[in-house]
Amino acid sequence: MPQTTINNCPICNSSDIIYAFNAVDYFSTKETFPIYDCSNCGFRFTNNFPSNDTIGRYYDSPDYISHSDSKKGVVNRLFHFLREIMLKKKANLISKYSTGDRLLDIGSGTGYFLNAAKERGYSVWGIEKDSKARNFAIDAFGLDVKGEDFLWNINSNSFDVVTLWHVLEHMENLNEVIGKLSDILNKDGTLILALPNYLSYDARRYKEYWAAYDVPRHLWHFSPVTIERLLIKHRLKIINIFPMPLDAFYISMLSEKYKKSNFLLKYGRAFLTGLIGYFRSLSQLTHSSSLIYIVKKNELG
Ligand SMILES: [Zn+2]
Repeated sequence: MPQTTINNCPICNSSDIIYAFNAVDYFSTKETFPIYDCSNCGFRFTNNFPSNDTIGRYYDSPDYISHSDSKKGVVNRLFHFLREIMLKKKANLISKYSTGDRLLDIGSGTGYFLNAAKERGYSVWGIEKDSKARNFAIDAFGLDVKGEDFLWNINSNSFDVVTLWHVLEHMENLNEVIGKLSDILNKDGTLILALPNYLSYDARRYKEYWAAYDVPRHLWHFSPVTIERLLIKHRLKIINIFPMPLDAFYISMLSEKYKKSNFLLKYGRAFLTGLIGYFRSLSQLTHSSSLIYIVKKNELG
């Protein structure tokens, strides 16, 4: 099967990359993929991952709830409850930081966030590569959602807000994507990135079982330091960071499932890990399971 092997760090271009550990695709195929670290800048990434044209089958699972919108089971019900809280938080964030009303959401999935933004008065567009999710967003909410190639046809300075909620870690052409995002943003536009944080409390607790490694769908595993370094390279700067501590509950529950813990242990420990992570992330951002980065163009860059 065609695979992509990385020999140089995508962020700093160093060839000094070292194998860290193996992670398993618990979600779908049970295949193993190596995780590497860059010795120079500390960037962590999945290596030898399936190329863009073959990775589709790794997304084929009825459990992929951001696409299937299933409400069955405790984990899915928890996900839907947390999603309502997060939708409100996301909408509040764009209201706080946007300087105009043209919004593009990349990886818009089933369209819930775009719809929430539309209800707040934004003119919204979405990009989603999965045709089932795309059609759901179009049919359920009447949204304007395009396929993935649309990104490359967008003119410079087209949007006031561009959002990627847990999407950048899936995108193969990392530097090209960030460069394009910088280009399509207006001069005072805002880029909002939500990313898993592998330095978080729950990530350290679960190590190779941490559900947000999610190989081979997650190619890049960011920390606040490495995402900042990547953004600076493309004349972008982080102006604020917010924790997403509630993610730890969901990620911990999945991680316990992957460890095959028994029922009581699974929910007890996942809840405890989520709770400790939640309180720690209140005092220190780097403990948070996921982080939201508010990014602007760096005119001095
Ligand atoms: Zn590096």
